[in-house]
Amino acid sequence: MKAAVFHGAGKPLAIEKLEDPKPGPSDVVIKVHRCGICGTDLHMTSGHGWDFPDGAVLGHEYAGEVVEVGSQVEGYKKGDIITALPAEGCGHCAACAHGNFPLCHNAHGVMGGFGEYLRVPAKVAVKLPAIFSLADGALVEPFAVGLHGVRMAAIKPGDRILVLGAGSVALTTIFWAKRLGGGRVVAASRSPRRADMALKMGADAFVRTEENEIQEVAEALGGAPDIVFECVGAAGLLAQAVQHAGLYGHVLSLGFCTSPDALIPALAGMKAVRISFPVGYALRDFRYVADMMLAGDIDPKMLITSVVPFDELPSVFEKLRGPNTQTKVQVSLAGI
Ligand SMILES: [Zn+2]
Ligand SMILES: [Zn+2]
Repeated sequence: MKAAVFHGAGKPLAIEKLEDPKPGPSDVVIKVHRCGICGTDLHMTSGHGWDFPDGAVLGHEYAGEVVEVGSQVEGYKKGDIITALPAEGCGHCAACAHGNFPLCHNAHGVMGGFGEYLRVPAKVAVKLPAIFSLADGALVEPFAVGLHGVRMAAIKPGDRILVLGAGSVALTTIFWAKRLGGGRVVAASRSPRRADMALKMGADAFVRTEENEIQEVAEALGGAPDIVFECVGAAGLLAQAVQHAGLYGHVLSLGFCTSPDALIPALAGMKAVRISFPVGYALRDFRYVADMMLAGDIDPKMLITSVVPFDELPSVFEKLRGPNTQTKVQVSLAGI
């Protein structure tokens, strides 16, 4: 099969021929149809000490068609379409007890959506209804990221909510926050580029983060936010989120910032602000997203700003490192 292989920061992904994966007794093998390019893929190949290893095939936002079924697998057959949690846990630790396999310290990655075929343990697969499009299937993961964050926020009905950022994590967070109990939801970002998208996803207002942002956000929300989702992941954003939060506010850091982010604890303390760090998700998140998509509650494709053929993946991947106007780019591996 062909796969786009990572060989270290500073080098573009290389399309190479690899051995076709074979299913173990409890695995299925899928032919990957669609895979999204995620900010994490770009970040973890950029040489800042959190990179994927040499030889890795990335791609964790995938959907595909089952082409082989392991001897002990029940409930799957050739032709089924699936997406999957991109990690398989040890099954014994606290993270696994929560179903959050990506947090398991002995997890094996189930990534490789940037390859034509992929071995997926059946226990982390999520079967999608036959009427699902593969493009939608590859969007289950990004929507699950937002859902997991919103779950951890435990929103109370009518809470005032601020989402910092306007990338796909922010957009899916807005979507779930509005549907799962949030009152007014305001999106705030440096660039107004995705303001329309934020409003379409359910935000009541969009604020540009500038000098008067604290006041403008509070005006748009009718008071300081009860909950602030930090979805940018750049240094300084956590402190900014704490500044926005009202008394007894809850700040959730979804941005996965890998550099130090200074904040003044006393400032947070004077407002009794709580800070959480949601990372990962569970199978139940994937299933709920798929159910909501099926119910027609989500028009997930609005996130997709372009679809590129597999051969163009390495060059597009490098272009996305710079300033660009994309939200979600999907790679089409099956020519559809
Ligand atoms: Zn992702
Ligand atoms: Zn575990």
